[in-house]
Amino acid sequence: MSLIEQNGCPLKTERGGRVFPESDHSSDIIRCFSDMLIKAGVDVRLNTKVTDILIKDNSCYGICIKTNNKEEKIYADSVVLATGGLSYESTGSTGDGIRWAKNNGHDIKTCRPALVPFETKEEWVKEIQGLSLKNVSLDMYDEKKKIYSGFGEMMFTHFGITGPLVLSASSYYASYIAKKPDRKEFVKLNLDLKNALTEEQLDKRIIRDFEKYSNKQFKNSLSDLLPSSLIPVIVRLSGIDPEKAVNLITREERQGLVKILKGMELNMSKTRDLNEAIITQGGRSVKYINPSTMESKQIKNLYFCGEMIDVDALTGGFNLQIAWSSGHLAGESAAINDQ
Ligand SMILES: Cc1cc2nc3c(=O)[nH]c(=O)nc-3n(C[C@H](O)[C@H](O)[C@H](O)COP(=O)(O)OP(=O)(O)OC[C@H]3O[C@@H](n4cnc5c(N)ncnc54)[C@H](O)[C@@H]3O)c2cc1C
Repeated sequence: MSLIEQNGCPLKTERGGRVFPESDHSSDIIRCFSDMLIKAGVDVRLNTKVTDILIKDNSCYGICIKTNNKEEKIYADSVVLATGGLSYESTGSTGDGIRWAKNNGHDIKTCRPALVPFETKEEWVKEIQGLSLKNVSLDMYDEKKKIYSGFGEMMFTHFGITGPLVLSASSYYASYIAKKPDRKEFVKLNLDLKNALTEEQLDKRIIRDFEKYSNKQFKNSLSDLLPSSLIPVIVRLSGIDPEKAVNLITREERQGLVKILKGMELNMSKTRDLNEAIITQGGRSVKYINPSTMESKQIKNLYFCGEMIDVDALTGGFNLQIAWSSGHLAGESAAINDQ
């Protein structure tokens, strides 16, 4: 923060420790970094693609670039690869650095989408797309084995589910799958829509609602308990005749309803692809990176940082922090190497 403020961009801190430029314009942050680069005398090449890295005798000595069809070599004492992962290709992160590292014998962990929405087999999610739910808990199972349990906010979409809770679950899913590459089965998801209540408390709550609406049809008795768009889905899943008078609903039927609200089942068919993944899990294995300098242990004078390395985290700014911290270390080490 002080680096940014000292370079002409005042900041403000909002609720939850979230920091923004006082102007609310992200362009001010870009301008601030551009000014810093100019002040430091950095030769910035825009609209230029790095096409390869130059390596001889296990030592990196420069890069190949292409600007408007003109190719050029730039020789250097150190090269820092900061080309990102494979997520959101439109931002320019197409995995080039990961490919160059692979072509030069570096160990690459399979790249998978993480912090990414889930597609579900259940098509009824379409009916409630846009519905956002708070205080939901989500359990993820591979057959009987629980592989994730979380709590928070989620949203239904036309293809499945998303939202902070689901994005976190997807990161655990990607890590789990990485250890079981041959696994083809889908995972099961269990949503507790009434996390604050035990089954017993929820049953009592439903009894109260059923007493209040005793002369109504079942489909018209859940408005105090659920958002209106969710009611037709829950009514269908419960198997109770929507037109049944509430005072005729049996104890078993009511308890079945409780079970659905406390454990709504969804079958995840797949995650959305890398292009919709906030981060890429996998990349350049950290095994052969010197953690004190970020230099490759296999190719001298070649440094790695950011999302292209096999390090990732949950949401909350941690992925940017990984990029900045590893970038800072790689940059300093490369500069020392240059002297
Ligand atoms: C929509 C979205 C929201 C996100 N939100 C958050 C968040 O709230 N908090 C958080 O911590 N993280 C978030 N992330 C993740 C975070 O942005 C990344 O982890 C981080 O930016 C990685 O930094 P990086 O410098 O390693 O790679 P990148 O930011 O991907 O930068 C790589 C750069 O290299 C350039 N490049 C690639 N190949 C070449 C080439 N051959 N020649 C020249 N240039 C090249 C690309 O154009 C790109 O500018 C978000 C990501 C996305 C997509």
